[in-house]
Amino acid sequence: MSALANTSPVEYDDAEYGIPAVCYCGERPNLQPSFTLTNPGRLHYTCRNREDGDYHIFNWWDEAMMEELKTVKEDLIKLTSLNQMREALQRQKEEIANILNMHKENQMELERMKALIAYKSDGLTMELKLTNVFVATLVIVATMTYFFK
Ligand SMILES: [Zn+2]
Repeated sequence: MSALANTSPVEYDDAEYGIPAVCYCGERPNLQPSFTLTNPGRLHYTCRNREDGDYHIFNWWDEAMMEELKTVKEDLIKLTSLNQMREALQRQKEEIANILNMHKENQMELERMKALIAYKSDGLTMELKLTNVFVATLVIVATMTYFFK
């Protein structure tokens, strides 16, 4: 069952709106011509139990058709709107996928940069150690040269 089928009866929760499916008494309405002087031959929905004095369905067929058309037109507008929303959601979904891919690539680049920094940092530490050893050796040689001259 579609969402539209659920929404329409809520807005028109009236058995006499549009083509009636069932009468208040539970009977299926009949389509009959009118025999009155004011509406001769005009089709209408009525109930076979109408003679019992209770309240029964009565809808002019032409009015019911116009109401049905109005409902269909409104459903069509909702459907178009739903399709537009679905398309917009699809575009957003693709955009999110692109952003996630970019994020993944950035993470990989970040890891690569971290590894590079760690490598460079190790090289720098080694260079500093070698420089320290060289300077210490120079100091020792200079000191020895000074004392044993
Ligand atoms: Zn009835």
